[in-house]
Amino acid sequence: MQTFTGIPASRGIVIGPVHVLRWEVPEVRHRIIPDEAVPAEIARLHAAIGRAKDRLREVRGRAEKHAGDEEAAIFDVQASMLEDAELIGGVESLIRQNIGAEKAFDLVMLEWRQHFAKHTHAMLRERVSDLVDLHIRVLSVLLDLPDYDPVDLPAGANAILITHDLTPSLTVQLDRNAIAAIATDEGTRASHVAILARSLGLPAVVGLRDAVGRLHGHEQAILDGSSGLLIVDPTDEHLAAYRDRALREQADEIELGQLATAEPLTLDGVRMTLRANVDLPDEAEQASQSGAEGVGLMRTEFLVVGRATMPDEEEQYREYSRVVKAFDGHPVVIRTFDLGGDKLPVGGYPTEANPFLGWRAIRMCLDEPELFKTQLRALLRAALHGDVRIMLPLIVSVAEVRQARVLLAEAAAELDARGVEYRRDIPLGVMVETPAAVIVADTLVKDVSFFSVGTNDLVQYTLAVDRGNANLASRYTPLHPAVLRLIQRTVEIGHAAGLEVAVCGEMASQPVMAFALIGLGVRELSVAPRSVPMVKRIIRGVSAEIAREAAAAAVAADTAQAAHDALAERLYSAFGDAPFLQHGLPVVVDGHSFESSAGP
Ligand code: PEP
Ligand code: MG
Repeated sequence: MQTFTGIPASRGIVIGPVHVLRWEVPEVRHRIIPDEAVPAEIARLHAAIGRAKDRLREVRGRAEKHAGDEEAAIFDVQASMLEDAELIGGVESLIRQNIGAEKAFDLVMLEWRQHFAKHTHAMLRERVSDLVDLHIRVLSVLLDLPDYDPVDLPAGANAILITHDLTPSLTVQLDRNAIAAIATDEGTRASHVAILARSLGLPAVVGLRDAVGRLHGHEQAILDGSSGLLIVDPTDEHLAAYRDRALREQADEIELGQLATAEPLTLDGVRMTLRANVDLPDEAEQASQSGAEGVGLMRTEFLVVGRATMPDEEEQYREYSRVVKAFDGHPVVIRTFDLGGDKLPVGGYPTEANPFLGWRAIRMCLDEPELFKTQLRALLRAALHGDVRIMLPLIVSVAEVRQARVLLAEAAAELDARGVEYRRDIPLGVMVETPAAVIVADTLVKDVSFFSVGTNDLVQYTLAVDRGNANLASRYTPLHPAVLRLIQRTVEIGHAAGLEVAVCGEMASQPVMAFALIGLGVRELSVAPRSVPMVKRIIRGVSAEIAREAAAAAVAADTAQAAHDALAERLYSAFGDAPFLQHGLPVVVDGHSFESSAGP
């Protein structure tokens, strides 16, 4: 038996075979070939490209079935790239200079990737991740490496997918009938693979560091998404203990589901608002059954990642309207594209040395007005169907809000010119997810209708800790007093100006942290749909007044640990027997205790 300890990312237990996906560019040895071997080597190159194209056709067919035609189109683009005469000619020319086919292909792809990445045309920069996929695919054929495409699994395989990290094109291939759980070496609770796994309802563990290298595939394993464990070749005792726990978790889930219609009221009568984070329009209907009073954050980027082309106004209008209609008059906060960072748009921007400090979110939208206005027009139209509110990500200055308003007015004028109806008084709010936004929050209040604190990024930028870096996971501490003080300041400034202040980051769905947020005066939380009942149980199990005292102590603490202890001590002494506190307690298997952090 082998136990890997990672970071709990999406709760749930899966027992099944491991499927290792090594989707990374393989090492290629330099090989000099004699002149007489050149024609055969060129023929070998063409055969490999032919096989790669066959494979792309199969993968396309599967992606179309699982994700849709738009998403599958990315593989058409890749197949056509493999027909590019300049690319193939470049590889042939190196082979004629006596370089083995795999090295020749490797060198040309590296050069092309670099060239595309620096290109001034966004369309060409966007193709870099396709080139990476082709680089891997063709080299795998030339080097006779196993084909690890995840879609190859038969339906019902119930597999645990183990991979370094998930790329957009892999994400769209995920066959939910075959893959029951995800485990990655990279990532943290706040990284987007974790967020996506929660949206898809797939149990997940991230930050395992070296599972890909140490596993072969086909091993039997238990993935425990609540405690962040991957147990490979478990003993019969482990299997029995986990089967038992899976049953208990299911029973708990059913019990929690009964809270859907209960009010999110604290023990001392403070009415909270609990909304859902919707990452994929497909989730909308199910999310609306969770008891959420609307959507506190719709991440629109997932309409875009992994696709060959940007969705047009009509498609976006349809997707936004679907979510708005599912929530039947409740507020639906739709965030404009937060592309860049670890959410790469149709291909991504890999040239950046520091993508999280780079051309992302509002910065990209303001620089690409047509892309931005297309989305704004779709939002203005979808707002006819309900209470849509637009939210801007990664704001650091009121100047960005003002620029966005100019573009919003232009988008509206364009609809007027076309005679298309739309809602005219749409509220515009901002995400508070940079220290700058908090510090200048007083300058933002006059220009915006609401604040929503994005703690995933706020923690990252305040503590200068990459949210996706597994090596830094223990330093990514949302309860750091610096973070708590920034949230406190946002609440004070927002409320003083009469604005709603929500929290839509992952912090809101962990018991001790949710308790802290209630204590800091936050009255609106937005969490993944699956976490809505659990957070409601927390709200209904605590008193806002005790939370306020606990949060004051945490804000005054000198370390994240001291802040955690100040909160946990009051939480446990006041509500120690409350059922919501069972969540995230140490897991005991076979007499062996694994410490677990509060799971999602
Ligand atoms: C956040 O940063 O907290 C947030 C909610 O947005 P995202 O996780 O999509 O960056
Ligand atoms: Mg964010």
